[in-house]
Amino acid sequence: MPIYEYWCNHCQRKVMLYLPTFSQASPPCPKCSNNALQRLFSTFSMHKTDKNIYDDILSDSQLTKGMLSNDPRALAEWNKRMSQGEKVAPEYEEALDRMERGEMPANPASGDSGESAEKAD
Ligand SMILES: [Zn+2]
Repeated sequence: MPIYEYWCNHCQRKVMLYLPTFSQASPPCPKCSNNALQRLFSTFSMHKTDKNIYDDILSDSQLTKGMLSNDPRALAEWNKRMSQGEKVAPEYEEALDRMERGEMPANPASGDSGESAEKAD
């Protein structure tokens, strides 16, 4: 199973990392880059629905392939599946929206110049 769960002691939150191979050394936190990650073993006691989501993702070879090549659409899709039922922050939602359109938001927090905000379809 290439998806590993960690607890970040700095952010005080659970983070999930997609690692092709598991190394003993803990990777830095994707949120704060702090090296305070602690591996969780919750996968063993995962709820069935969570496990189904994992299985679903991992059986989708196109999705996993896209994730490995940092395809924004695949990353957005993965995020969507993993956060099922959970509300995401509005600014994050917008970043995901962009990713679904195939754009990799370089800096979602700083926002865009708003060039497309007025665009009416
Ligand atoms: Zn962190």
